[in-house]
Amino acid sequence: MTTTRFLTNPSPAEMPRSADVVIVGGGPAGTAAAWAIERAAPGTRIVVIEQGSQLASGASLASLENFRTCWAAPCLHRMMQRSIHVFHHAEEFLGEGVKLGLKQQGYLFLAFTEPGAATLKSDVEHLHRCGLTHVAYLTGDEVAQRHPWLGRKVVAAKYDPVAGWMDSNALVYAFANATRSTTFLLEVQQTQLRLNGDRVRGVSTANGDIDAPQVVIANGAGARPLGRSAGIDLPIVIRPRQSFTTGWRHDGFDEESPCVISAAPFPHVRPEARSGAIFGYEYKWNTKAVQPDPDARRDALLDPLYPVEQFKDPRFPSVTLALLARQLGHAPGQGFADPRYLRGIYHRAGYYVYRDNAYATLVDGTRVRYDSQRAIIDAWPGLEGLFVSVAHVGHGIMSAPAAGEILASKVTGQPLPDPTFADFGLDVSYVEHDMGGLSDNGLKVK
Ligand SMILES: Cc1cc2nc3c(=O)[nH]c(=O)nc-3n(C[C@H](O)[C@H](O)[C@H](O)COP(=O)(O)OP(=O)(O)OC[C@H]3O[C@@H](n4cnc5c(N)ncnc54)[C@H](O)[C@@H]3O)c2cc1C
Repeated sequence: MTTTRFLTNPSPAEMPRSADVVIVGGGPAGTAAAWAIERAAPGTRIVVIEQGSQLASGASLASLENFRTCWAAPCLHRMMQRSIHVFHHAEEFLGEGVKLGLKQQGYLFLAFTEPGAATLKSDVEHLHRCGLTHVAYLTGDEVAQRHPWLGRKVVAAKYDPVAGWMDSNALVYAFANATRSTTFLLEVQQTQLRLNGDRVRGVSTANGDIDAPQVVIANGAGARPLGRSAGIDLPIVIRPRQSFTTGWRHDGFDEESPCVISAAPFPHVRPEARSGAIFGYEYKWNTKAVQPDPDARRDALLDPLYPVEQFKDPRFPSVTLALLARQLGHAPGQGFADPRYLRGIYHRAGYYVYRDNAYATLVDGTRVRYDSQRAIIDAWPGLEGLFVSVAHVGHGIMSAPAAGEILASKVTGQPLPDPTFADFGLDVSYVEHDMGGLSDNGLKVK
């Protein structure tokens, strides 16, 4: 049995010449796929190709590293429940001594108006009907009692106690270290797919070619250009998203606090380490400055532009803090309006990757494209041996173990671990309750 190997910028002599499966991308999706394929078919010779100098060099670097179960679509909440089970049993699934830095302090979604409270209430009722009975509806008084620092403007909340955050880098390396017959190639550029008619033949790279009958595209925002090397057009788009960490947080917002998701447009924050906080906010974005082409999509890119840091809007931290302060009613100098938040900020950007072939049929019969929360985890039709695990949107860390297992079932030809996971199929255009990320597009679907 071989052991896990890491090779950085391998020489032609060091390059593996062949593998059973090549996985392109060493982020959460790619490493989870290697872990799960080995569990399903021990001894499979896998090569993971990563262009960065370390694994997890993509979107996870900017991530809030959160997880939660309260997803409205069954395929999504079952995916997260399975993944959280793996996180909670990390030693069993990932190896002795594995520590993922799990904190399970919950997610609290806030409402500041009666209609907002009614929406949260019906969300909770729906989640209960789906079996997620641990998710609770809290009145404003209950929120004030549990978390006085949130103030009196909160009318109601939805609370997911089986939610929290973790160390995403530890997760990716735990997947990698749990493998036995996988080789990880770092700093390998210019990977292209190689075909033989309608079959995959392997990949070519700047360091040499690898023959393999099965290749997995799992390289996040880089997936569309990679697919093009095999003449296929992956139905995905990408949008830059930002987060920032502060070294300070205000009194009352203590280390034990949950992750708080405020009302539309959904700025969110959670405690980070002893004294800081980490913030996110999926604000509307448009491509005008970087895509002068008038036909280009206004709010999304097809191919990534690097460095992604160019999309950091310097106003982002102050806008996010101001929004939270306004919604929570913090006066200047208090709470999130305290200027100490703006000192020593660590501001990051990364790409969310979205499925771009989801559409809903409205009551009047028209079809409307929507931002699906569902990844694409499937075999590519018409090209034998090609698989994709892409479009993990804003939850590719919390979903990684289950996403790996779904991909592994496709690669090994075994049944899906859960029938609802068929909804991650390439051509599944619509799934009920699949629009409810942190954005609210208010469509009335047939
Ligand atoms: C601001 C922000 C906040 C987020 N918050 C959360 C959160 O709280 N919880 C959560 O679960 N998720 C969160 N996410 C989403 C999460 O980070 C992604 O869904 C996840 O990282 C996707 O995993 P991936 O492996 O598909 O892609 P990535 O993480 O982007 O990894 C892809 C890897 O492939 C490599 N690569 C790219 N192109 C090539 C190539 N051609 N050849 C070789 N290697 C290549 C990259 O270097 C990278 O290492 C957040 C993301 C952002 C941007």
